[in-house]
Amino acid sequence: MLTLTFLGVGSAFAKRNDQSNVLIEAWSEGPEHQDEPDDTLLIDFGTTGPRALHALKDKPGFEYLDREGMIYYPSIRRIFVTHQHADHIGGLEELALMDTFVHIDAETGKGFKPQIISSISILVNLWDHSLKGGLTTIPGRYALLQDYFFILALRPSDPDHDHFSLLKRYRFDPFATDHIHIERKYDWPSYGLTITDTQSGESVFYSGDSRLDLEATSQRMAEAKICFQDVQLAEAENTVHALMSEVRTLPEEVRRKTHLYHYGDNWDSGSFDFVDQEFAGFAKPQQRYVLFD
Ligand SMILES: [Zn+2]
Ligand SMILES: [Zn+2]
Repeated sequence: MLTLTFLGVGSAFAKRNDQSNVLIEAWSEGPEHQDEPDDTLLIDFGTTGPRALHALKDKPGFEYLDREGMIYYPSIRRIFVTHQHADHIGGLEELALMDTFVHIDAETGKGFKPQIISSISILVNLWDHSLKGGLTTIPGRYALLQDYFFILALRPSDPDHDHFSLLKRYRFDPFATDHIHIERKYDWPSYGLTITDTQSGESVFYSGDSRLDLEATSQRMAEAKICFQDVQLAEAENTVHALMSEVRTLPEEVRRKTHLYHYGDNWDSGSFDFVDQEFAGFAKPQQRYVLFD
């Protein structure tokens, strides 16, 4: 079984919801039969991620995330980074420091090293432009990304190295998203994910931060059993997210299986009451969605 839980469902600047980061759990038997999953993956961990994970550990079924009232960070085995905005990476410094200096294994005397996964260019820039500032110094020496994480650098144009798997069954295929243009489409790296159960052939679509890019995503969305789609509630020009007016033009059979996420704080103002009829709804935070049985 593979499950997905949003730590938060909000936009970068949302204050009523936490930012859109996701906990993926892979189970050999399922949460009814196991105290904790066999493998875990965060898709992004933004500025509000630590607070959201702290809240999640108190929910029934997520006790394995708790150790004496604190987040037990070693329960997070892997992190996939979609792109470098703070609402997707702002919690990684805390995670790295807690794993390295707080959660020391009593037997080995060593901290815990999770795996970090993304494209080579995102990982290089993540360290050089973001994490290096706070993580470069370890007492007595300078540190590198690999002091804190096992690195899995994907090569998006190489079919042998453009994806990763959990439990050798659930395959994650990143695809480029149309989020920020420097000079042209796709020239600032950012990713969404198609997640496939290789046993059943079923798939799930996770848009990542993106403008609506039907050329690239309409087939993935049509084939998926569930879609999670980035949406911006405020209509604007030159936006970097999919507008509500745009996602409403998706075919009805796609909308019915699409949960909207990365939304602003006015989702319940009354102006978006149509979402429950036209879509699977607004994604709910801190609730386990079963992707594959
Ligand atoms: Zn974002
Ligand atoms: Zn973004």
